[in-house]
Amino acid sequence: MRLAALLLFAATATSMPAQSTVRTADPAARGVPLTAFPRFVKLSDKVYGYEEIRQPGFTTVSLVVIGRNGVLVADGQGSVQATQTMLDKIQTLTPLPVKWYVVGSDHGDHTAGNSVLPKDIRFVVHANSLAQLRKDSAAAVAANRPAVIVPTAAMTSDTETLDLGGITVRVRFLGRAHTGGDLMVEVPSEKLLFMSEAYLNRVFPAMRSAYGAEWVRTIDSALALKNVDLFIPGHGFIEDAKVSREELVAFRESLLAVIAEVKRLKAAGLTVDQAIAQVNWGPYTKWFLAEQQSPIAIRRLWTELDGASK
Ligand SMILES: [Zn+2]
Repeated sequence: MRLAALLLFAATATSMPAQSTVRTADPAARGVPLTAFPRFVKLSDKVYGYEEIRQPGFTTVSLVVIGRNGVLVADGQGSVQATQTMLDKIQTLTPLPVKWYVVGSDHGDHTAGNSVLPKDIRFVVHANSLAQLRKDSAAAVAANRPAVIVPTAAMTSDTETLDLGGITVRVRFLGRAHTGGDLMVEVPSEKLLFMSEAYLNRVFPAMRSAYGAEWVRTIDSALALKNVDLFIPGHGFIEDAKVSREELVAFRESLLAVIAEVKRLKAAGLTVDQAIAQVNWGPYTKWFLAEQQSPIAIRRLWTELDGASK
């Protein structure tokens, strides 16, 4: 039984990409067919990344950590069906139950399938995300939309250590970034950090609910962690350790560039609509979702800059 599962896994898993791999969030440009997904990326015997495709055709990443006492999942997928598929695939790795779930991002593309999680699962969620999920749940009830699963309690400090049996994870809040309740999962024994949506690999900064200037500082805190070699994004590809750090630095630079461009347009006396029409993102125009996310980022940062100037 155990051997069969391992063999099945060997046939479907991928190892981390070579450094010559094209740096893009676009599977086609990277030479990976959409039929390759969903897939596990094996990070160690006990830790796997899970890459699944969401519209319009890039990956949403979950993290799976297997201890003797059960499995921890950080972030789900964007629908009941996609999260159920992930749970089914986790069973090809281990017969142990999923016991912990970390809300890295409270956005629907990571939480909308959470109704299929085990009923007795232990959630780890930041107070800011818990408040957001409560709002989303009330809105879903009012609009007769599918239920939003709301954890019962938020974490009470910025760090929480969980012993999964033979492996320990550290859930970290390093500051507000993409949602305001951004949690990351460090696995010290494997020297890795799952950053959820605080790290978008070659995806244009998505800022609908973001805190631009704070996001940069949050990434600085992640980069400064002494014991971390591998940084795992919430969207885009999982890289090897060296490339993962380079791309996290590149993503930080994209945030700074986006903030600087919005500041420039604002200082020029434009209205927000004129800014949306005249913006020049330079090289970031080619990043995934740039066209869709451009006006969203401008409007959000416009508000942020107004707040900062008061
Ligand atoms: Zn998001």
